[in-house]
Amino acid sequence: MSKKRRVPLRTCVGCREKKSKRELIRIVRTPAGEVTVDLTGKQSGRGAYICPRVACLEKAIKGRRLEKNLRVPITLEVIDTLRKMLVSPEEKPES
Ligand SMILES: [Zn+2]
Repeated sequence: MSKKRRVPLRTCVGCREKKSKRELIRIVRTPAGEVTVDLTGKQSGRGAYICPRVACLEKAIKGRRLEKNLRVPITLEVIDTLRKMLVSPEEKPES
């Protein structure tokens, strides 16, 4: 019998699934009002979590959940940056 340590769960703003923090990417609104991807998980500011999948990003944008969560308007620039960061090499676009 091994006790599993409880991992803090976060909800993806795209698919709304609860996952451990490690599986998700943290998007943070810095105190300066900038929206950025927090790769360290330590950046201060208001955060939202999302799966590293473009599909989830699209859902989050469509549902405006990202801006609701972060309470700032998400600009196209930010979306573009996020999109580039979320595309992993092993994820090939389905046609
Ligand atoms: Zn998701």
